[in-house]
Amino acid sequence: MPALSKRLDGFGESVIRQMTRIALQYNAINLSQGFPDFDPPIELTSSLKNISSAGPHQYEITWGAPLFRQKLAQKQSAFMNMKINPDENIVVTCGSTEAMMAAMLSVCEAGDKVVVFSPFYENYGADAILSGAVPIFVELKLPDLSFDPAELEDALKQGAKAIILCNPSNPTGKVFSYDELKIISELAKKYDVFVITDEVYEHIVYKPYKHIYTASLEGMFERTISCSSLSKTYSITGWRLGYIIAPKNVIDVCKKVHDFLTVGAAAPLQHAAIAGLIFDNAYYDNLALQYERKRTIFLNALTDAGLTFLKPQGAYYTLVDIEKINPYKTDLEFCKWLIKEVGVAAVPGSSFFHKKVNKYIRFHFAKKEETLIEAGKRLAGLREKLKAGK
Ligand code: GLN
Repeated sequence: MPALSKRLDGFGESVIRQMTRIALQYNAINLSQGFPDFDPPIELTSSLKNISSAGPHQYEITWGAPLFRQKLAQKQSAFMNMKINPDENIVVTCGSTEAMMAAMLSVCEAGDKVVVFSPFYENYGADAILSGAVPIFVELKLPDLSFDPAELEDALKQGAKAIILCNPSNPTGKVFSYDELKIISELAKKYDVFVITDEVYEHIVYKPYKHIYTASLEGMFERTISCSSLSKTYSITGWRLGYIIAPKNVIDVCKKVHDFLTVGAAAPLQHAAIAGLIFDNAYYDNLALQYERKRTIFLNALTDAGLTFLKPQGAYYTLVDIEKINPYKTDLEFCKWLIKEVGVAAVPGSSFFHKKVNKYIRFHFAKKEETLIEAGKRLAGLREKLKAGK
């Protein structure tokens, strides 16, 4: 038999998706892969119902249905405080996953270096490998999640082509401050690199923190490739609707990559999601408020269970420190035990770090309040079960 491509040798199966599968097998509460167990807004689902009979059911324009792009441009122009042209500055993709991959493929030649803050969302490792890029990691120091500007500058001096920036950040919940973004932006300009952002949690930020779009900083629109999605904002992770916002010269290349990768995001779903893009600000305020409640419920449950964790400033994840309680060699074994014996699924933290870090697991709390309360009850028995050697 001929050999298969070696390109994929550098990474394994997604640990996040693997944990979901094991959670399903044992009927555990799945706080591993981050997606809601509640319905999207009724406006979107009833629009989808209408579209199922009225259409469209055929291809849309490859870089996105015109009305979808027009409404997205209006929404993002207001939030990002800039003028986004729906024809020149947007590509609609199959989730932010494709957006990030298309951005990387548009920017990187084989061997190009990209800077990634660690801990990082596991896809970026795979994105780098598939686009032929080599990641250079810059540490976000736990627990305060600060980074050393000198370390970032050293990384850029190695000839990097781009910085990948997940903000608000998965898995740490860090929201980069204006001062931090300013440092990153000044260095990006000094070393003439792109910043590829993943901003899928842009509307899930807890007071007093505020999301600032990197593209909105002075002189940054030209070199920022902003990737985001509708998945988390409208609780439609399965619709796979994402997008890239960037200057025209970048978008022209992204359009080509996207066209040959996927042709386009699902046409009926783009049309149904327009109902969300036209929501007023109250929707986004309420979304943040709902997640604030979920965060309180879940973090209180973790505290009651005697666990130590990072309090997220944004997004819907928390890293829990298991160093003192893990009787197993690895965080993966701990997570398997947690699914089987406690009935709650988490992601082993090691899949988010470039160094060997084995002391964290990641929970998400994008679940109904009753699901989180039930998860809390189960986690309350965790220490007893560990003591009993179960
Ligand atoms: N972003 C989500 C997470 O980190 C879902 C990832 C995925 O499987 N697409 O869990």
